[in-house]
Amino acid sequence: MNFISKNLLKFKEVLKPFSSELIAVSKTYPSEILKEAYDAGQILFGENKVQEMVQKYEDLPKDIKWHLIGHLQTNKVKYIAPFVHLIHAVDSMKLLQEINKEALKNNRVISCLLQIYIANEDTKFGMSFSEATELFQNDNFKMLNNIKIEGLMGMATNTNNQDQIRSEFKSLKKFSEEMKAQIHLSNVELVHLSMGMSGDYQIALEEGSTMIRVGSAIFGNRNYEQ
Ligand SMILES: *Cc1c(COP(=O)(O)O)cnc(C)c1O
Repeated sequence: MNFISKNLLKFKEVLKPFSSELIAVSKTYPSEILKEAYDAGQILFGENKVQEMVQKYEDLPKDIKWHLIGHLQTNKVKYIAPFVHLIHAVDSMKLLQEINKEALKNNRVISCLLQIYIANEDTKFGMSFSEATELFQNDNFKMLNNIKIEGLMGMATNTNNQDQIRSEFKSLKKFSEEMKAQIHLSNVELVHLSMGMSGDYQIALEEGSTMIRVGSAIFGNRNYEQ
């Protein structure tokens, strides 16, 4: 059995006690490597760049469910709108409007997660809790019938401090529960919490993650970080 199937089998065991899915983050790896994972039964793949995801979509079997996990620019939405399964990192009304427009053109509803900023680090991406609350209350948001917000995504601080990571994941779970109780809109159904990566998936699972995004723990270390 090859290295990738062994790792996938390990995650199958890890996930057994939880109701969480494994998104295999395959960014930077060539399509042949993804095919190995696919042949071992993996159907959910995560990519962070539009062009790379489109290329791999063309190369690989069509039953793969493609998750875009990285920052998405509005001018690139059109390339993935026909096939993307879930967009994890939505962080503005402007981006949502563009996704809605392209989804409509493709006669589909595109599932999205709002990326919420939970880490104690500087980042350009993600929304604060209050920005997300305001977005749900925005009248223009309610009219977006070709998107569905299915949950929230968050990245914990890159630290060895397990307590800090845990409390950041807890804060996202708590916010999700609050929003579930408050927001009743036809384009919102908060069922997913996308949290946990190779270094912190165990904590994320314990704190209620429904999707872990794991790259290097499946495919090995990437040659370059992005
Ligand atoms: C690369 C990436 C991951 C996976 O990271 P690993 O540490 O390799 O598991 C998860 N989420 C996002 C948003 C990423 O960009």
